[in-house]
Amino acid sequence: MMKSFDTYADLLEWIEQKGYTPRVLGQAPDGAPIVSIKIGGEKGPAIFISAGSHATEQAGVSAATALIEQLETEHPVYILPCRDPIGLNGFSYALSLSIANLPPLNTIDDVNTVLKKHGEILYEKDDTLLVIIGEYGYANKGLYGQFEKGQPFLKSLIGRRIFFPSRQEGIEGTAFCQRAYTLIVSPDAEVLHINRFHDTAWAPVESRCTRTLMAEVQPRLILDLHEHGGDSFWFSARHQQNDEDEMWERLTCLPKHL
Ligand SMILES: [Zn+2]
Repeated sequence: MMKSFDTYADLLEWIEQKGYTPRVLGQAPDGAPIVSIKIGGEKGPAIFISAGSHATEQAGVSAATALIEQLETEHPVYILPCRDPIGLNGFSYALSLSIANLPPLNTIDDVNTVLKKHGEILYEKDDTLLVIIGEYGYANKGLYGQFEKGQPFLKSLIGRRIFFPSRQEGIEGTAFCQRAYTLIVSPDAEVLHINRFHDTAWAPVESRCTRTLMAEVQPRLILDLHEHGGDSFWFSARHQQNDEDEMWERLTCLPKHL
């Protein structure tokens, strides 16, 4: 049985109780430490495993913690079990960073009411609502790929996060508002997510933590754990930048369907 975490504090407590020593790579905007755990041996090259960049896909976080406990290898393994602490804590938590005394959020109407009461509306059309409250943007649904880059109404959110609520009833760990999916507005006003800043000049702290650690440990196998589409899984294998890395990629790539 894999463990699922209701809060990021629960995850940090689990790490401590199990006796692992986390390394703090940076701090999320709410001050939460973004941590990695090192397991395995010392034989090079290193393996890098991260999870939770999309907080609504909590199975990745569960799998990462299971791997911390169970993976046995001679290679050093660096595991970042949760790349988005705010998102794991949920949409009410994300809103609580900007609003005191939040009412319960049981329906999308509750969310819309709170966003309109406390926020400055940046975009509202059909059933999509985007507001800014304090330091953060909040939306009532996913906006990735919805807007063209550089829209004027996104300018006040440049470099900031937009949170929207999970809405997947019936999928464990991602009930309504149980998680907050984090979007980030790039310097040229494009709405992206945490995994779209691996090779950009500017990157939010959640992405910089992985970039910095990868640059330090030079892993030859990198796994980023997500959740999608029932009980199958896929393994993304990209063409690598040089022949040596490409050879390693082919050696470690799993068959497409397992
Ligand atoms: Zn994902």
